[in-house]
Amino acid sequence: MALIVQKYGGTSVGSVERIQAVARRVIKTTEAGHSVVVVVSAMGKTTDGLVKLAQEISATPSRREMDMLLSTGEQVSIALLSMALQEMGQPAISLTGAQVGIVTEAEHTRARILEIATERMQRHLQDGRVVVVAGFQGISSQSDLEITTLGRGGSDTSAVALAAALRADFCEIYTDVPGILTTDPRIVPDAQLMDEITSDEMLELASLGAKVLHPRAVEIARNYGVMLVVRSSWSDQPGTKVVSPMPQPRSLQGLEIAQPVDAVEFDTDQAKVALLRVPDRPGIAARLFGEIASQDLDVDLIIQSIHEGNSNDIAFTVTQNSLSRAEAVAAAIAPALRSSASPTDEAEVMIERRMAKVSIVGAGMIGRPGVAAQMFSTLAAAKVNIEMISTSEVQVSCAIAEADCERAVAALCETFGVTGRAAKSRRRVRSADLPPVRGAALDLKQAQLAIRHVPDQPGMAARLFSLLAEKNISVDMIIQSQRCRLIDGLATRDIAFTVAIGDLDEAQTILQAADFSFGEIAVDCSIAKVSIVGTGMVGRPGIAAQMFRALAEAKINIQMIATSEIKVSCLVAEEQGVEALRVIHAAFGLSGHERIVVPA
Ligand code: ADP
Ligand code: ASP
Ligand code: MG
Repeated sequence: MALIVQKYGGTSVGSVERIQAVARRVIKTTEAGHSVVVVVSAMGKTTDGLVKLAQEISATPSRREMDMLLSTGEQVSIALLSMALQEMGQPAISLTGAQVGIVTEAEHTRARILEIATERMQRHLQDGRVVVVAGFQGISSQSDLEITTLGRGGSDTSAVALAAALRADFCEIYTDVPGILTTDPRIVPDAQLMDEITSDEMLELASLGAKVLHPRAVEIARNYGVMLVVRSSWSDQPGTKVVSPMPQPRSLQGLEIAQPVDAVEFDTDQAKVALLRVPDRPGIAARLFGEIASQDLDVDLIIQSIHEGNSNDIAFTVTQNSLSRAEAVAAAIAPALRSSASPTDEAEVMIERRMAKVSIVGAGMIGRPGVAAQMFSTLAAAKVNIEMISTSEVQVSCAIAEADCERAVAALCETFGVTGRAAKSRRRVRSADLPPVRGAALDLKQAQLAIRHVPDQPGMAARLFSLLAEKNISVDMIIQSQRCRLIDGLATRDIAFTVAIGDLDEAQTILQAADFSFGEIAVDCSIAKVSIVGTGMVGRPGIAAQMFRALAEAKINIQMIATSEIKVSCLVAEEQGVEALRVIHAAFGLSGHERIVVPA
């Protein structure tokens, strides 16, 4: 007999008929001899409706009252599902987050779970009841009983956290698609179902826009080794397993906040090639990285961003013994890369021979921008200049001078309490025969910010991103310009990055109030971020080039590029986002033969 946590999303409980269908499915599981804890979302689009109501009354409602309002949606569905179960002869009891004892931070609208009391649930399970728990909600502490919510889509996180706390045998997430697909079937109907995906890949996809799972749910599954399956509540298909490596034993105290960083890694075999003043038009990145790939050179990090004068800087890293060949390719292409604005200026190639990459690694950084900011501050305090930054959900990496590597690693180990054993040298090794790209995602809810003329001194990234982190604003795709510009005798660089559109106003206000000087802040809300994700792209040349080529062939201009080990993200114009996702999905042969029909 197993203990199973089943979570049913909004569409799965969208009507009385659907709730009855869910009740029948739950009973099938209890009849097979299992104990079941069910987590439910609000019915259908209830939460969206509540948000709209609030907006009709206030443009800036109090976050506390928003939690009070939004948490009601789930309370309706737990009661109705319990009634449906009881009506079918199955003893059941509904419990709110507070009644269970799901204790969270006192951060309204985006609280993280600290601990979950299991006694009350265990008691009901032992008495043969199905326990129906409201997803998405908790309380700030057992004494002040403030209702909190976990952030939109957070019922997945409630379910996996309950499974971890109850040490359930597995956690099933029931939704309106047959499982995790290569991309969103509402945009690409021939997206294909996967039998399995690694938690690292799913973490990236979820954070890059695949809303089928809340990223924090995947993080908890990875940290606590929860067996996680995503399935359709409309069929009996087995769905998709999210596979995690065996986790280190971990306390259930501070569930979502303890120990964000598990290891510090470094790679001293890195060199950088930068091309400055590359024209901003489709096809440039495709051509450069196409040539690099045809030489079978494996590129690690790639960044591209537009800077002053409307031209791009592109930089990438390779191993030191590939540097001369990579440099030769860049130098051969540079004369052909003239912008129409200044046809006499050809792109300039810059190299740095002896670089290293230092990384902090751990599945506990999602939604915690303070962790990356702390890394940047640590490097600044150790007087290490950061040349390139790459962020992903499980890793933040900085390219630095090789000579600074030992100092950087020591300082990072100290800051994050990582012992010598967890500080390791890591080279990129090609993963055996995994598909290079597992999935693609589109995020239309991002905005781009560019800060001009930031003084080029160690500590600038730390200061900027600490300010944002203090207000819990996460940033992605952080790119510093490769070229420097002298302003009043001071070397400056541009820094561009993306934030969630909802955080844009606050980010701008914070930056404008900052007590150090930089040039203007440029904002672009009409952008889309398209990404590919796959563990198999590590050490395999040509994957990024293939993505850039697909975009170029569709005449889609790439505004920014940022990569991490297992993903490549490009910013494109918002109106080209959907087309970009479709062409990339097709370019990597991810389409299947069946069309996925999503129930309305
Ligand atoms: P629920 O209400 O069950 O939590 P969501 O709407 O939050 O459901 O998530 C399911 C939706 O996620 C699907 O209907 C689909 O449109 C979307 N989605 C985005 N990317 C993917 C993907 N890679 N695989 C499956 N579904 C995806
Ligand atoms: N009802 C909440 C939302 O719509 C939580 C969830 O469905 O996961 O965001
Ligand atoms: Mg959801």
